[in-house]
Amino acid sequence: MKIGIFAFQGAFAEHARAFAELGVQTTEIRRREHFHQSFDGVVLPGGESTVQGKLMREENLLEPLRRAVQEGLPAFGTCAGLILLAKKISNDGNAYLGTMDITVKRNAYGRQIGSFRSELEVKEIGNFPAVFIRAPYIESAGKDVKILAEYGGKAVAARQAHMLVTAFHPELTDDLRIHAYFTELARGRI
Ligand code: GLN
Repeated sequence: MKIGIFAFQGAFAEHARAFAELGVQTTEIRRREHFHQSFDGVVLPGGESTVQGKLMREENLLEPLRRAVQEGLPAFGTCAGLILLAKKISNDGNAYLGTMDITVKRNAYGRQIGSFRSELEVKEIGNFPAVFIRAPYIESAGKDVKILAEYGGKAVAARQAHMLVTAFHPELTDDLRIHAYFTELARGRI
C-alpha cells in the first residue's frame, strides 16, 4: 500500500503524518518522474489551487494525473485539492483535472470568516472536527456524487466512486478517521 502526496505547496506534510500514524506509506510527488503506476492512491492537499494547478501543468503532471484518475486511481482532495478535481469552478475561469462531477466556489466564505472550525456530521464517519481555511464549497453535484457533509446548507464533503473530497482540512486535526476512510477506499474495500 503506497499513497502519493502532491507536494508542490500547502499542507502536504500534515497528510504524510496522518497516514504514517495509520501505518500507511507515502511518498511526495513534485515532478513528473515521481508519478508512476505503483500508487494505490493520491492526495491533493490544501494550499492555493491556482499555484498548484500551474505547477502541475508546468511539470506535465496534469494530463497523466487526469488520465490515471479517470481510469480509476483513488484520489483524495482537501480544500485546494477539491478545487483541482472539480469539473467546474463557478467564480474562476480555470478548471484543472475536472474528473469529479462537481461545481465549486472558491473562497466561498469570504474574507471576514475565512477560517473557522465546526463540528460536522460526516456520513459514514460520524461527528468530525472540521477546520476550514479560505475554503470552497460544492455548489452543485452530478447524480453519481454522494454528499457526505454539509455546512450551512452547502456541501463540504463528497465522494464519487474512487474520488473523495473535503472542503475542510482533516490533516490539521488529530482525528484520523477520514484518512482511514480513504485508505479503505484505496484498498478497494469500500
Ligand atoms: N483558497 C484556496 C484556493 O482557492 C484554498 C484554501 C485551502 O486549500 N485551504 O485554492
